[in-house]
Amino acid sequence: MLNNDNLGSSPTAARIGIVGGGLAGLAAAVALVDAGQQVDVFESKSRLGGRATSFEDPRTNELIDNCQHVAMGCCTNFLDFCDRTSVRHLLRRDTKLHFFSSDGRRSDLSAVKCLPAPLHLGASFMRLSYLSFAERVRICRGLNRLAQSRNLDTKAELTIGAWLRADGQSEHAIRCFWEVVLVSALAESLERASFVAARKVFVDGFLRANTACHVYVPIVPLRQLYDKVAAHLSNCKASIHLRQSVGRLAVATDKVRLPLRDVAAREYDFVVVATDARRISDILPFELSDLVDSANSITSSAITSLHLWFDRPIFDLPHAVLIDRLSQWIFAGPSPPVDAQDSSSHYYQVVISAAQDLRGRDRESVLDEVLTDLRATWSYAQQAKLLDWRMISEPHAVFSVSPQVERHRPPQRTSCPRILLAGDWTRTGWPATMEGAVRSGYLAAEAILAQLGLDRPQVVPDLKPSWLARWLRLT
Ligand SMILES: Cc1cc2nc3c(=O)[nH]c(=O)nc-3n(C[C@H](O)[C@H](O)[C@H](O)COP(=O)(O)OP(=O)(O)OC[C@H]3O[C@@H](n4cnc5c(N)ncnc54)[C@H](O)[C@@H]3O)c2cc1C
Repeated sequence: MLNNDNLGSSPTAARIGIVGGGLAGLAAAVALVDAGQQVDVFESKSRLGGRATSFEDPRTNELIDNCQHVAMGCCTNFLDFCDRTSVRHLLRRDTKLHFFSSDGRRSDLSAVKCLPAPLHLGASFMRLSYLSFAERVRICRGLNRLAQSRNLDTKAELTIGAWLRADGQSEHAIRCFWEVVLVSALAESLERASFVAARKVFVDGFLRANTACHVYVPIVPLRQLYDKVAAHLSNCKASIHLRQSVGRLAVATDKVRLPLRDVAAREYDFVVVATDARRISDILPFELSDLVDSANSITSSAITSLHLWFDRPIFDLPHAVLIDRLSQWIFAGPSPPVDAQDSSSHYYQVVISAAQDLRGRDRESVLDEVLTDLRATWSYAQQAKLLDWRMISEPHAVFSVSPQVERHRPPQRTSCPRILLAGDWTRTGWPATMEGAVRSGYLAAEAILAQLGLDRPQVVPDLKPSWLARWLRLT
């Protein structure tokens, strides 16, 4: 254990540099300042948030998110981070999921409060009208077999697509149920996504606990959340340095040297490298080059979002999930006007996960298909005039949750005790999500605090499983 008395200028606080102002870096910073440590955050861009961020639309000067970000009730660490930074009230909680079949029929999925998980969703699942009764029964049996799978190590190389076919799920059920849930949760196709990750989505997100499937949606552009996070950090005497790109770290006996592009290098007791996997090769010291090889083996998956402004509302729900369409999720508002004078526009975001196949397609043809989806689903959309639109494609949105990826995800502790990793791509047991990013930041903070002799768990436990889920061993 390192001696806290020898660390940094203050006798009690260690000096910790954090590279990257995405959710992982911010979560590490919040956990460390809450534990009384002295923290500096360095972010190369002009704004916080990394891949979960907002930008100013040059045409209207309005803040737009790069993509609608949602969390679920099972994201206990992300929600804890929102509580710690007083932004939870900026998230809306949708307790019902609204599904629309390709012919526009609506089915809602919601929990019955008095029934223990996994029975809580049974009644509304059995009413999903776009699946035949036989398909619903087969899916329930499949879910049970998936959840009851043991010895996951023996399935480490299996994709969920291969498993579903071996389980005898019909192509229609795969397209209209399994794909609908898993592609948006994992941002990967069923042919590439791992069995283990898919099982986690259903067990943690739907089957174990009554509130796990609630969906949390920010009601303001993400930038406004980060303003509050930054205020929390400043109140705790942390400093945030934007537009500061960190170069290659150097390790001395009791310090880490952190070089900055335009200003003098600084020295820290610990450094948390919380960038995405593709950036670490420029930052880690040569002693840690094995981690760079691992990170380079991690491949990406794409997410595309379309931002649409109509002259009238096109549906009257907070969100909708479209079945068997290119458009997967559509979110209504928050409603930045198409220009400052015009407050009569209605803003929607359409999200397309695992969007690799859109590469090479021209933007207008994607827009046309999305508009066709919306018009086929809602008659209001047929009359609505599209006032403006943007399409944002993030080719490296998340890492691909292939069966192979787990062996390349490093833990937060490295072989240099003073250098820690964080980021959704590090080993958290979660796919690339805001929850995974926050967990990784908390794990890095925990590892530093442990070295300082401060045994303070930061990672919040998963939701407590219902008695029935425990009895069924859905853990
Ligand atoms: C389009 C899209 C949609 C998504 N939708 C969802 C969703 O609905 N729900 C969900 O849970 N997750 C979603 N995600 C995933 C989620 O955004 C990420 O998992 C999460 O934001 C990753 O955070 P991070 O801190 O690990 O990494 P990042 O956000 O990548 O942060 C890393 C930061 O490090 C900075 N950096 C890099 N190099 C340097 C350097 N040399 N010096 C200083 N700073 C540096 C970067 O600028 C960046 O800000 C989505 C992602 C995308 C792209």
